[in-house]
Amino acid sequence: MKIIPLPKKIAEKNGELILKKEVGVCLDARFSSLKKTIEDRFPGRKIKFDGDDIVFSYKEGLPVEGYELKSDENVCVSASDVKGAFYGLMTLLQLLEGDVLPKCEIEDEPRFPYRGIMLDVARHFFGKDEIKSLLDNMAYYKMNVFHWHLTEDQGWRIEIKKYPELAPKACVRKNDWKNHLGQMTGKPYGEGCYFTQEDVKEIVSYAAERMITVVPEIDMPGHITSALSVFPELSCEGKPLEVSTKYGIKSSIGCVGNEDFIRFMKDIIDEMCELFPAPYFHIGGDEVPKDKWKSCPKCQKLMKEKGIKSENDLQGYFTNLITEYLAEKGKKTIGWDEITETNDLRSDAIVQWWHGKDGGKWAEKGGKAILSHNTLCYLDYPYILTNLEKIYRLGPEEYKMTPEIVKNILGIEAPLWTEFVYDRKKFEFMLYPRVQAVAEAAWTPYAQKNYKDFEVRLTKYLKEMDEKGICYCPPKKYNPVGLRGLRQRLRVARKIVKDPNFEVDC
Ligand SMILES: [Zn+2]
Repeated sequence: MKIIPLPKKIAEKNGELILKKEVGVCLDARFSSLKKTIEDRFPGRKIKFDGDDIVFSYKEGLPVEGYELKSDENVCVSASDVKGAFYGLMTLLQLLEGDVLPKCEIEDEPRFPYRGIMLDVARHFFGKDEIKSLLDNMAYYKMNVFHWHLTEDQGWRIEIKKYPELAPKACVRKNDWKNHLGQMTGKPYGEGCYFTQEDVKEIVSYAAERMITVVPEIDMPGHITSALSVFPELSCEGKPLEVSTKYGIKSSIGCVGNEDFIRFMKDIIDEMCELFPAPYFHIGGDEVPKDKWKSCPKCQKLMKEKGIKSENDLQGYFTNLITEYLAEKGKKTIGWDEITETNDLRSDAIVQWWHGKDGGKWAEKGGKAILSHNTLCYLDYPYILTNLEKIYRLGPEEYKMTPEIVKNILGIEAPLWTEFVYDRKKFEFMLYPRVQAVAEAAWTPYAQKNYKDFEVRLTKYLKEMDEKGICYCPPKKYNPVGLRGLRQRLRVARKIVKDPNFEVDC
């Protein structure tokens, strides 16, 4: 049976079950919020909530997000929460081939509670249609966190009512990169490309119907040039700035010694917390060059007053201040692993481990961490670098962690950065079928993971993506191996430098 992610236990039985054109569904009242989802997911069939062709029942004691599915004379899905019932439905849809369902018994639950994909909409903008299509696919493969990277040096993409000029001004940059050689298009980019708060509500609710939590990210105190271009007085130098047109790390950062900057960040958090019900809030915190803090009288004064010994500890002070503010609102802070570059980070901060060893050290000390190592799972890296098999391996096993430390790993998240992702074709090509591999890495017990078997099951979903018109990286390209693979990789790398869309063929 070709299910992705592979369930914890499957027992195949002899025989098949035929699903009629009119399907009677019995839905436990606890799962009534799934009514519309069930109606929508069986195109070409009439769903009547009367009958017992498919029964969704409550069963106490089943694990969170877990479910049992039995198909015999009819189909029974049991769960102890609505998420589990939803995932039982997703498995049922994957099993259904035309009118035929194989007879089987499945017991299933996720390995990790956090199974995410990050999308950077700041470097290049991807709107509601692309995001909804991503959410559809994430849900189908039982992923449950959409991390929305909304702000960057190169663009601010969310409406903030208290600062009405922020998004409309900070979403536009004067020029855009065409390729990795640094050639530019010579045209402005991003006019009007931001999400209104109504758009955000629409996405959050669309995701919730699919059991996906949307975690917003506002990067601070670095990667914030776009906002500082509208409010230059919030930077250390206070000089006029423009929304960045080039990529890389920018030297202008927020002035932590300026109370107005802290107020500004808190105001934004206030509005965001109203929009996003997620228990997490991502504050970025990555790639903060601290030279401006070293020469800033306000930052230095604050360090003296508070007895802060280094600029790294000044970032720690800022992270803790924001983490405390979010904690008062019932939110847990997530930050990229640079937030651990201080001696006294609050223990409740969650670290997204994207490079080096700091994320692992945080987990060793008892802190919670999310695995997102760039060399293993960055979706913007070409397939010649981050091939499908590599992504599939993603998990604590890559780091020789003891079971005690593994308990501190909340889960797995693969980020799609978009410096060189300009259009929907490339967006989909970079995502699929790597999303399927990440989904299995995050859901399936380690002992059951088997890449070769995954590739066999994947064929069914490549066909489905063909039918749905979704672009994906074909088998001949997603795993270049051996000497031929090496030659192919070098050839492709040379081409990609000039033409970032070179790899894409669909
Ligand atoms: Zn300063």
